[in-house]
Amino acid sequence: MKQQTLAIHACARSAGEHERFVPSAPPLETAASFHYRTASDLTAVANGEINGFVYQRYGNPSADALQRQIAALDRASSALACSSGMAAMHIGLLTALRDRPKTILAANVLFGQTFQLLQLMEQQGFVARFADPCDLAEFEASLDKTETGCILLETVSNPLLRVPQIDEIAKIAAKRGVPVVVDATFAPPVMNRPLESGATVVVHSVTKYLAGHADVLGGMVACGEAEADYMQELGRHFGANLGPFQCFLTARGIKTLPMRMEEHCRNAQIVAQALEQHSNVGAVHYPGLASHPDRAVAERLFDRDTKGATMCGGMVSFEVLGADQAQTFRFMDALRLVVRTLSLGDVHSLVAHPATTTHRNIGEQRRQKLGIPDNLVRFSVGIEDPDDIVADVLQALESVA
Ligand code: PLP
Repeated sequence: MKQQTLAIHACARSAGEHERFVPSAPPLETAASFHYRTASDLTAVANGEINGFVYQRYGNPSADALQRQIAALDRASSALACSSGMAAMHIGLLTALRDRPKTILAANVLFGQTFQLLQLMEQQGFVARFADPCDLAEFEASLDKTETGCILLETVSNPLLRVPQIDEIAKIAAKRGVPVVVDATFAPPVMNRPLESGATVVVHSVTKYLAGHADVLGGMVACGEAEADYMQELGRHFGANLGPFQCFLTARGIKTLPMRMEEHCRNAQIVAQALEQHSNVGAVHYPGLASHPDRAVAERLFDRDTKGATMCGGMVSFEVLGADQAQTFRFMDALRLVVRTLSLGDVHSLVAHPATTTHRNIGEQRRQKLGIPDNLVRFSVGIEDPDDIVADVLQALESVA
């Protein structure tokens, strides 16, 4: 089945033997525990001999529906709904690192909190090393420098929107038996499926496009059969589960993800092109632009939309030309429709300032080296009418002219 069909149907449940009807919506089942008519039934369910639910942390109908839906979309054997994208990232890394050397070779540009998670893991005896995943030769050489436990990449990097060749990196990794973890938050599974490119574990912040309406904090880990039991075990014992209401909202949101994502991508392309032509704008980063260094990789790896255009995501980053931090803030403050906030992937357009928010903790020197200057604005393009989004951006740019 195709993604649009799976998004709608994969969380549905079929009728049980004695049921005359099945609810048409994903279940919202808030019970912390489930009781049975007999102690032996309870024991059989607890031991996994018959299907059922015992205790919310071990599994529940709301999480089960969402996990089936994501596993289907990601072409995974198993998925685990977590309380945040960061919880999912931690479980995803530990899943991949089972029985492996404790060294993580990570992309040198990552979401700021992921850098911080790696620093915390270093305090626990893990080692994090970094290399540019868009330079295959450098990445392969780094892989061979020490024994590597796993590789960590983002499908589209944050905030510079670089697109590593996940399939080529997965090939290089497979030759050495190294698992690959991919954070696919910026490129949900209606756009790209890292497991199909050879990745081992995929992680999503469902807070973003998957739930899509700024009302859920959640994460998801998905993997193949070989890693599934260990991932689920980590989920059961870490207890960082996504609550039933958040599961319900996410499963509901995902039903319209394919259409939403098409609009995000279409609008982002329009906004990126408008920005590129504006005299108050410096560098514009969007993988759908001919000027983007990874345009060809995006063309090769990302799905086409229903009109045949490559879906390059809904995120655009750009520099307000010659602006310092105060002038950049003036531009952001002048926006009337587009809101200033920290998230992304919502139906409404929003901007963030990476240097003082998501990437503030990586240090000035590293930030400058990575190309995250004070005048860089990260734009999550929503699904409002693109004319209104562009008009708002243009009027705000006038304020720093
Ligand atoms: N990964 C990426 C690329 C993100 O942008 C974020 C959050 O912005 C996360 C992971 C963490 O997700 P959450 O905020 O749901 O914990």
